[in-house]
Amino acid sequence: MSTSRLVQEFMDLVQIDSVSYGEGKFQYALIQRFQALGLTILEDDTKGLTGLGANNFVARLKGVEGIEPIFFSSHMDTVSPGQGIRPREKDDRIESDKTTILAADDKAGIAIMLELIKRIQEQRIQHGPIEFILTAGEEVGLLGAKAVDIAMLEATYGYVLDNGGPVGGIITTSPTMYRLDVSVTGRAAHAGLEPEKGISAIEVVAQAISRMKLGRIDHETTANIGQINGGTAMNVVMERLEFVAEVRSFDHHKCLEHVKMMETLLNEEVTKYEAKLDFQATPLITGYHLEETHPLVVHAKTCLEVVGRHARFERSGGGTDANVFNEKGKEVINVSIGYEEIHTVGEYIQIEEFEQAVNFALELVRQMPSFPSSK
Ligand SMILES: [Zn+2]
Repeated sequence: MSTSRLVQEFMDLVQIDSVSYGEGKFQYALIQRFQALGLTILEDDTKGLTGLGANNFVARLKGVEGIEPIFFSSHMDTVSPGQGIRPREKDDRIESDKTTILAADDKAGIAIMLELIKRIQEQRIQHGPIEFILTAGEEVGLLGAKAVDIAMLEATYGYVLDNGGPVGGIITTSPTMYRLDVSVTGRAAHAGLEPEKGISAIEVVAQAISRMKLGRIDHETTANIGQINGGTAMNVVMERLEFVAEVRSFDHHKCLEHVKMMETLLNEEVTKYEAKLDFQATPLITGYHLEETHPLVVHAKTCLEVVGRHARFERSGGGTDANVFNEKGKEVINVSIGYEEIHTVGEYIQIEEFEQAVNFALELVRQMPSFPSSK
């Protein structure tokens, strides 16, 4: 049966280690699998740049003209502990032996892709061009996707197969997130003998922070100072203080504005005290939002109903490759494929959900002829 073929393929995949930065061997095994199914491979040349264990690649399945091309995406790398995974089937689910993760995140997505191709071919389903993009280094800051040459993808629309929970979940909204690395330098002085000669970095920062809005800013924006480090000794005026903060918002512009506000307040206090400021704002992810009326969302919803599921529209707290593809001009949503408790040794996937995810993906392809053409 094809469910057992899906499960077996998945079990084989998770036994090839691919912890981030060590994706090489796994990528090789995948390329062979896609080629064996008759797909053509397009590989980029980014691992020198990213330092990851593998390049990204696209496997392309030719299709008939006149049907909108579509792509699917999964990532090849896993978190730790992800070495020597021994999967087992227990109570209608697949789990690890509890000493490692299972790596259903995101090898379930990859197994779905391979099974999807087999079923398309066996059932002779008419389809347009289908692309499968496999990225490296997703778990370490979406590094592979960020470096990818997006021109490798012909399709405008795509589904990322990398969301947990029962089939039906769709991430239509994801936040923009910034990391702030801030350092304030004052001047050291003996705290008892001549404190007036010093400039206390913590005093400067405290003044700025006391004027900042932090925590929940509004219904879609938050800010946090999560780490702080400074000073050398009890009796020295603190010369230098560093802190790490984050700002995230489902509204991209609000996020930028809040980052700017924090910088402005720091600048004002630093100027007042004649200290020095180093303020680094790094965009970690760029948010996206697709309306429920967007053709991609409507398409997903229709196909879910065909397989007996209802769409659940979700907002994600963090980022996935979907954020990067949207930022690069593609239109993408991340869909649930059934895995649970990711990034823990308790990670598992219910076989019934796994099978449903394949059915859903197959339906996405089968119904593409009715997808409104972008041309
Ligand atoms: Zn993932």
